[in-house]
Amino acid sequence: MNLFEYTISELRRLLRRKELSPTEVTEALFSRIAEVEPKINAYNYLNHERAIERAKTVHVDLPLGGIPIAIKDNINVRAEPCRCASKILEGYLAPYNATVIEKLTKAGAILVGRTNMDEFAMGSSTENSATGLTKNPWDLQRVPGGSSGGSAAAVASHEAFCALGSDTGGSIRQPASFCGCVGLKPTYGRVSRYGLTAFASSLDQIGPLTKTVEDAALLLEVISGFDPNDNTSEKMPVPRFSELLETLSLKNMVLGVPKEYFIEGIDGEVREAINKAIAHFESLGAKIEEVSLPHTPYAVATYYILATAEASANLARFDGIRYGRRAKHYEDLLDYYGKTRDEGFGSEVKRRILLGTYVLSSGYYDAYYLRALKVKEKIKQDFSSVFKKCQALLTPTSPFCAFRIGEKSNDPLQMYLADIFTIAVNLAGICGLSIPCGQSTEGLPIGLQIIGPAWKEEVILAIGHLYQKSTGWKPPIPPLGKNVIE
Ligand code: GLN
Repeated sequence: MNLFEYTISELRRLLRRKELSPTEVTEALFSRIAEVEPKINAYNYLNHERAIERAKTVHVDLPLGGIPIAIKDNINVRAEPCRCASKILEGYLAPYNATVIEKLTKAGAILVGRTNMDEFAMGSSTENSATGLTKNPWDLQRVPGGSSGGSAAAVASHEAFCALGSDTGGSIRQPASFCGCVGLKPTYGRVSRYGLTAFASSLDQIGPLTKTVEDAALLLEVISGFDPNDNTSEKMPVPRFSELLETLSLKNMVLGVPKEYFIEGIDGEVREAINKAIAHFESLGAKIEEVSLPHTPYAVATYYILATAEASANLARFDGIRYGRRAKHYEDLLDYYGKTRDEGFGSEVKRRILLGTYVLSSGYYDAYYLRALKVKEKIKQDFSSVFKKCQALLTPTSPFCAFRIGEKSNDPLQMYLADIFTIAVNLAGICGLSIPCGQSTEGLPIGLQIIGPAWKEEVILAIGHLYQKSTGWKPPIPPLGKNVIE
């Protein structure tokens, strides 16, 4: 087995037994990156030298001692670029560390670089990046999903042992599903957002993308916890997720299957793979029950009102004065703001600022924004009532497998529908996990989403882990274009 193929739990064991050194691990990863990156383009920035310096001094008995990690390009790492894959942040260097970066550093992790994404995390394919396309490791003609497409493609192609992403409406789970890795969106408030570039502050959460569920648990326990710098983080105890993975039995469990997630239009092979996974849980002793989340059809519309409203306010700070790129030719201050933003933002970001400004404008605020807030409450209540009778829900992560580059990029509405099964989880503030559960006949990964109540990550992680253990999951090596006859 190649060194780059290891999971972080395997690496931890080998590092602690001194069978491997952090320098060997880091060098092996960088040679893998050198080999694969020209095909995939998962990274916007790499810092080999800094990683090696760090590897020399790090203590291996720390929770992530000597483990290299990739970070999405919208999380601040002091003195490094944090571009959010946008032109407007060209040249910007972060002046401070996000709380998750402080926690990872304390835990002994080695930062290797920044992963590509849709500009400001707006998108489902990473095609909205100003720094170039990322390719899906299973088929280089296809997108890796988004917005954390770089993180997912890096983990799936073993160019990263693990990565952080951010999820506002599905941006961790959907790319994990498209690339065939594990992605977890934690409960809102579980992980500090301090130092995460805000898109829609009431929905954004940072979370792990990994090769196995066990690794997601290890990473989650490091990055979680209350942070006085983020007043939306909660004072909740952080369970030792990795130690709770095997304490759960499916014998007394009821797993819900929401009928609204099995709509027409869902790909036949996806449906089949999800049904097979559901049958597998049944064979392990779980009771499967059909449930209803009646407000599901309104989730996408509600999300695009709330997320754009918040984005229009959050992105007002990029005015050419405080961050990054500045317009060079302008007449007066107003013109300067306008030109900086016009030159710096891509078309999807502009579309969202326009939409968000519109739904917040006087006269439309009640009709759109306030109404969307009410529907959000209904969606939340739907989940609370089904969680009275079941411990978790099983759904597809995405209605289809990875689509072709360019296939949806001219049709924003089609693109918005890529998140139809992930968005409600963010609106309700609960947690969701995507794990690989099969492949299409074209060899594309299919993702199963396991949704849990707020603060019950240990339950969905244990269910996911049981699935991987009982099916003998080994993180595969994708073909990286070798399946294509040229
Ligand atoms: N695809 C969704 C959007 O474009 C979700 C993005 C995200 O979760 N950051 O808004």
